[in-house]
Amino acid sequence: MTNRMETESHTESLREIIEEYWGYDEFRPLQEAAMVSVMAARDSLVVLPTGGGKSLCYQVPAMAMEGLAVVVSPLISLMKDQVDALKACGIPAAYLNSTLSWDESREVFDEMQAGTLKLLYVAPERLMNSYLLEKLVQAKVSFIAIDEAHCVSMWGHDFRPHYRELKQIREIFPNISIHGYTATATEQVREDIANQLQLIEPEILVGPFDRPNLSYSVEQINDRLQQIRAVVERHPDESGIVYCISRKEVENVSNALNEMGYRALPYHAGLPDDDRSGNQESFIQDRTDIIVATIAFGMGVDKPNVRYVIHSGLPKSIENYQQESGRAGRDGLEAECCLFYSEADLYSWERILSDQPEAVNQASMNSIRAMLGYCHAYVCRHQQLVAHFGQSLEETCGHGCDVCRGDYELVKDSLVVSQKILSSVYRQDQRFGTSYTASVLKGSRDKKVLGNQHDQLSTYGLLKKESLATIRNWINQLVAQHYLQKAGEYQLLRLTEIGWEVMKGDREPKLIQPRIESKSERASRRSQEVQGDAWAGVDQDLFQELRQLRLETAEDRQLKPYMVFSD
Ligand code: ADP
Ligand code: MG
Ligand code: ZN
Repeated sequence: MTNRMETESHTESLREIIEEYWGYDEFRPLQEAAMVSVMAARDSLVVLPTGGGKSLCYQVPAMAMEGLAVVVSPLISLMKDQVDALKACGIPAAYLNSTLSWDESREVFDEMQAGTLKLLYVAPERLMNSYLLEKLVQAKVSFIAIDEAHCVSMWGHDFRPHYRELKQIREIFPNISIHGYTATATEQVREDIANQLQLIEPEILVGPFDRPNLSYSVEQINDRLQQIRAVVERHPDESGIVYCISRKEVENVSNALNEMGYRALPYHAGLPDDDRSGNQESFIQDRTDIIVATIAFGMGVDKPNVRYVIHSGLPKSIENYQQESGRAGRDGLEAECCLFYSEADLYSWERILSDQPEAVNQASMNSIRAMLGYCHAYVCRHQQLVAHFGQSLEETCGHGCDVCRGDYELVKDSLVVSQKILSSVYRQDQRFGTSYTASVLKGSRDKKVLGNQHDQLSTYGLLKKESLATIRNWINQLVAQHYLQKAGEYQLLRLTEIGWEVMKGDREPKLIQPRIESKSERASRRSQEVQGDAWAGVDQDLFQELRQLRLETAEDRQLKPYMVFSD
């Protein structure tokens, strides 16, 4: 622990350095605390959302302290960008990786020996190289920073085996503090990172996870390309990212956007290296407006003016969603995040993930289902996202998400509709899944449905006026509200205890549907929002209730609010 005087003098010198080299006059939330723990040589783990300014947390202390700071970074392109940016600020920094020639590496070693270098970026596999280790032990290392520290955890969303080797740095540098930085970590991942890196009584700093300048919306897919197009059209000549699940879809969407006359380029791991980095460069330098990509895109890409992020399918987890959507609006200005999903996306992921070990696969599928749960819980999206990271927002966001904006309304006869659905599940002996049950309720002519036993079809056609997609959505809402459960490998529907209470009429689920309104109603609602009346027509009680339910769910999952330090 540092005493207060020390902290104050640290703060002053840190502030001077930020101003002198970066020209910034303020810390962002938690940056100061994070820098102070480096200066005090206390191990730390810093969790700040994407765009929160993690790099500065170690770059500034590196300048304030004597010796050389070592930064472990997972991607070659990332190292180069960071080092170029540092050099542009007049900071002596370098990197060591496989792209350097023998002479270039030699030069870096010379600088190390001369003691002029302040920051050295290395890949994890490189750090374990014995020659480098020897040189580092000779040079005075001030501290070790591990960027994208979640890569060390198998529970994280981007595990990299080489990161596991970092376990050894504690033994190799027993007297040097180690600091991890990541944008995304649930409590489990966070503990795992601290264990893997053998951090000693680390200071754990978790920043505010809400991104108030981002607006979120979720829509079920009916015409993917038209839905994407509608968003792109709202942002002429602005930068946007479209995330797709598969490479093939990346190609399709990218071509389609080009045909519509937009400047879009693809990005996925199947492209030749040159094309991939060329396309990324072109996006970063605003030569192309849209990058259509798989989740391979984006780590460490610091483009401030991304005005929208579209998900053309279900993200891989809530962590992934937070991180990917977080690439919008890094400059702090408004940006929108639109998620289009279909339940069939679960199967696309299943196919992509099928070559993983079984246990990992199960964990991944659960993460994807949690994401589906986010879509089907009509609770303020900002509240839902921060709840996943163990934080809570007192207030709903106002009009920063589709739910709060009032894009949905209550289904008038929610109870009756719910009872129809629940009894259908019961009548089918709880032996069927969502799609089949929806088909029965719709009164589908499908042979699979009609070929079934008579008593199992006693609820046949009870919701025949509704679309299949609507019925499926309602079933999923009942799952999200815990009146139904999906069980086993085939995700068969089953009534829960409170589901039975609904059957008896003792409880009333609230089902939501997209607000059906004319264009002029919509326009007038939007203009009311501008005047600050965002809640016009929104059933307050309903949203409170749904929120409570959601919070209880978070409790079920044993998410505790963490200590949150912020300005
Ligand atoms: P992260 O790694 O957390 O995603 P970065 O370190 O890449 O975020 O920082 C995101 C952007 O914010 C960068 O352009 C950085 O220069 C800027 N930034 C960081 N700290 C400050 C600050 N205190 N004042 C102004 N801009 C900052
Ligand atoms: Mg970063
Ligand atoms: Zn909201």
